[in-house]
Amino acid sequence: MSDALTELETNVRADLARIAHPGAAWLEPKTGPDGKPALDVLIIGAGQSGIAIGFGLMRSRVSNILLLDKAEEGKEGPWLTYARMPTLRSPKDYTGPDLDFPSLTYQSWHEARFGKEDWQTLDLIPRAHWAEYLLWLRRTIKLPVHNGCELLEIATAADGLLAARVKQADAIETLYARKIVLATGQEGTGGWMIPEPLAHLPASSVATVADDIDFASLRGKRVAVIGAGASAFDNAATALEAGGAEVHLLCRRAQIQVIQPYRWLTFRGFLRHLSDLDDAWRWRFMRTILEMREGFPQATYDRCARHANFTLHEGAPVETACVTGKGVELRTPRGAITADFVICGTGIDMNFAERGELGRFAGNIATWADRYQPPEDERNPRLGRFPYLADDYAFTEREPGKTPWISDIHLFAIASTMSFGASGSSINAMTTAVPKLVHGLTRGLFRADVERHWASLSAYDVPQAVVTRPARTMEQPR
Ligand SMILES: Cc1cc2nc3c(=O)[nH]c(=O)nc-3n(C[C@H](O)[C@H](O)[C@H](O)COP(=O)(O)OP(=O)(O)OC[C@H]3O[C@@H](n4cnc5c(N)ncnc54)[C@H](O)[C@@H]3O)c2cc1C
Repeated sequence: MSDALTELETNVRADLARIAHPGAAWLEPKTGPDGKPALDVLIIGAGQSGIAIGFGLMRSRVSNILLLDKAEEGKEGPWLTYARMPTLRSPKDYTGPDLDFPSLTYQSWHEARFGKEDWQTLDLIPRAHWAEYLLWLRRTIKLPVHNGCELLEIATAADGLLAARVKQADAIETLYARKIVLATGQEGTGGWMIPEPLAHLPASSVATVADDIDFASLRGKRVAVIGAGASAFDNAATALEAGGAEVHLLCRRAQIQVIQPYRWLTFRGFLRHLSDLDDAWRWRFMRTILEMREGFPQATYDRCARHANFTLHEGAPVETACVTGKGVELRTPRGAITADFVICGTGIDMNFAERGELGRFAGNIATWADRYQPPEDERNPRLGRFPYLADDYAFTEREPGKTPWISDIHLFAIASTMSFGASGSSINAMTTAVPKLVHGLTRGLFRADVERHWASLSAYDVPQAVVTRPARTMEQPR
């Protein structure tokens, strides 16, 4: 490790010690039904969200926590797996998982790793550097993480605990926790969509942008990418750079969407208080933003447009798709395109039942459609399937009383967006959203222990000062 990084880590430790107040422990260990110690909070997912949540909890003296991730160390989230852009899309000065702690920012790490001058000339953060920074961050703040460990199922257990069935290598064990946070990423509550007309195509000729695609095999092939968001462009660019013969990007809208609504919403008022608005306002804002979908940066577009064999088709939703002797034929209102391979960049759809870890209570998670009926001209069934979360990011029940324990399962992912504005899992919203979640978690833990705190106060007899009483007492009045 470089001297600068060692020095930075020394500074982090000193800074954390300086702001450790209030440092008193306030939680008591609990045990599960089999006598095994229970965690205060179990966090599923050690991507940037899990890291920031763990950091926020430790700063609140909730340190009996554990993070699990099914991915191997360093391979959490999209950065070194299916993200196919050279740099992040966020501006380099957005702070996030550092929770506004200067020596833990990406900038501090970058300056220590590559020098201050390099930071000055840096345009956008290289994706691999972001992944390296996240790993450094979690090690520096000493977060307890188990990699290669998958959450299979959550059930209720005695004494208000949750039971998490987890798998590591071939062993399956049960962990107990008072609360569970699902920081399980984009697909944590559903799956990547393959639009209906393409759903019956052979698996060998269609994939989603999150799949492990063998781009080298697309050399000399015709590729169609469905969708026009940033990930669709990244995949088109990767196919072009791999030597695809023709790459067609099919955009449903008459004109491609070039506005980035997530830039608009990046101000403290919206990030912090959208969730304080009533359902009608929350729906109105989020429907508008999510229907616009995320725009793509200029560099993402240029990476495709510089290739003569790239074609953007606007106003071209796929109406039918079939395999012919010439390949996969995609029919659109603008004509047909024949491709050898189709990549869908059409986003995520909610499907709780599809996710094993939600299986026991998937049918009783309240959705927006269960709780709010928008006016006719604001309807959107896809957004109606988003979970309707409580103000502490917990699931709420469709049928009250059936699975009350789900109020201790908190969701911090893209699916939290309809309830909270920006979910907090993207960098722009983390410094606002993570403290809000942590506040909700500590509120729940404190409230559940209120009897113990009352008993503790009632028994509190620690003198703060020693009073020495003179031997001679005052003269008594006659
Ligand atoms: C291609 C791409 C590019 C993006 N670029 C940007 C950007 O530039 N700027 C920005 O602000 N946002 C960006 N985002 C959005 C967002 O920042 C990322 O999705 C980010 O990775 C979210 O972090 P996360 O920790 O919530 O989820 P993830 O990073 O996805 O981490 C979730 C983790 O949960 C684990 N997991 C899931 N289920 C289980 C289970 N059952 N058991 C155990 N572990 C489990 C997974 O293995 C994964 O490691 C991008 C998203 C994508 C997909």
